[in-house]
Amino acid sequence: LQAKMSRLVQARRLEGVDQNIWVEFVKLAATHATVNLGQGFPDFPPPDFLREALVRAVGGGNHLLHQYTRAFGHPPLVKILAEFFGKLLGRELDPLNNVMVTVGAYQALFCCFQAFVDEGDEVIIIEPFFDCYEPMVKMAGGTPVFVPLRPKAPGAGKPMSSADWQLDPAELASKFSKRTKALVLNSPNNPLGKVFDRGELQLIAELCIKHDVLCISDEVYEWLVFDGKEHVRIASLPGMWERTISISSAGKTFSATGWKVGWTLGPWRLLQHLHTVHQNSVYHCATAAQEAVAVGFRRELERRERADSYFTQLARELQGKRDRLIRSLEAAGMTPIVPEGTFFLVADVSAFASDVPEAPGSDEPFDSRFVKWMVKNKGLAAIPLSAFYSGPHKNDYSRFVRFCFAKEEATLDAANDILQKWKQERAAP
Ligand code: PMP
Repeated sequence: LQAKMSRLVQARRLEGVDQNIWVEFVKLAATHATVNLGQGFPDFPPPDFLREALVRAVGGGNHLLHQYTRAFGHPPLVKILAEFFGKLLGRELDPLNNVMVTVGAYQALFCCFQAFVDEGDEVIIIEPFFDCYEPMVKMAGGTPVFVPLRPKAPGAGKPMSSADWQLDPAELASKFSKRTKALVLNSPNNPLGKVFDRGELQLIAELCIKHDVLCISDEVYEWLVFDGKEHVRIASLPGMWERTISISSAGKTFSATGWKVGWTLGPWRLLQHLHTVHQNSVYHCATAAQEAVAVGFRRELERRERADSYFTQLARELQGKRDRLIRSLEAAGMTPIVPEGTFFLVADVSAFASDVPEAPGSDEPFDSRFVKWMVKNKGLAAIPLSAFYSGPHKNDYSRFVRFCFAKEEATLDAANDILQKWKQERAAP
C-alpha cells in the first residue's frame, strides 16, 4: 500500500494564478528596508471616533455584538450605507436589497467574479490594474482582456499628471466582443492615482450599455481625491445603475485596512447573485467591526462637506503628504507623476538605468530590478509598476515604480533623509 499521494492535488482553476509577486516584494522589504513605502496601507491610526466605537462595541453592554448578525450585512450598517450612498447616487437605496456587506472590498470583488463570470466569458480590465482582478477572473473560468491607459506628453512646463494617462476610445471599443460579460473600473485608480473624469466615464458607460455589459466599479479610494477634483460614481450616470456593482470599504475610507469591512451597492437583480456567493462562502463578517463602521458613517453623515468631516480632513492631509513625497523623490532624480487621488504615486526612475545591474538572460523588467537594487542599497522599498500589468505587458511601462504616501510624518522624514543622501551621492564626482 502506497501512503504517499502521487495524483495532482490542486484544482485546475489554480493553474497560472499560483505565482504572486507580492510575496517576494513584501519579504524583500521586510528583510532589507528601513523605510517601506511599498505596501499600500496607512501607518497612522484610524480616527479616534472610530476606535472608540469599536471599543464600545466589544466592551459595552450589548453582548449580541459578539454573535452572528444578518449574513448580508449588520442592520445598522446597511441602513446607514443606504442612506449615505443613496444621497450620493441620487436614488433611494433599500438597505436590505441594494447593499451587501463583505470581508473588505477584496471579497466584494471575488463575489462579483464568481457570481457573474462564466467559463469562456471575457472581462475587460484597464491596465495598470489592482493585481487581484486577473487571477480572480481566471479562477471564475473567465478570460481577462486588457486595455492600457496610455500616457500622453504633459502640457509644456508642467509635470506629468495621472490625468495624462488616458484610454484610446477606439482601442477600448475594439476590446468589446460578444463574449464580454463585464468591465472592471477602478477610479481613483491604484496604482496611478488617476481619477476618471465624467467624459471618460461616459465613454465607458456608453460602451457597456451598447454591448449590454456589467460594470464592476472598485471605488475604495473614493474619498482620497485631491486638488478639488470630483469623484464621479459611474452608477450615477444614465443607464448605469442597472448594470453596475459599486464597491468600497472601510479600509481606505476610515484608514482601518485590518478591519476588512467592505460593501457592494447595486440593483437587487445583480445583488441577489452576490448574496448566493457570500452565503455559500464566508457567510458573514465580524459584527463588532460592522457596528463601529456604522457609527463612523453616522458621524460623517452629520458632517458632510464640513471642515470637521474626517473624509475632508484625510484628503487634505494626504494631499500635503503627496506634495512632500513628490519633492523628496524629485530631489533624488526621479520624475513623479502627480496623482489626482489615492495614496499612491508612480515615479519614473529611468534616470537610474546605469546604476542597476543587468540581469543577463532574464526577462525581468527594469522596474523590478530597480526596486530590488533600491531596497538593498538604499533601504527604501517601493513596488515596480510592472506588478500591475498582465504577463505580456510587463515590459511596456517598466520605467516606473509605485510609492505609498499614507505614512506618518516620521516615516516621510526618514524617506526624505534617504533621498537627500542619495541626491548628494549622485552629485559627488
Ligand atoms: N481595490 C483596490 C483598488 C485596492 O487597492 C484594494 C486594497 N489595496 C482593495 C480593492 C482591497 O480592499 P480591502 O482592503 O477593503 O479588501
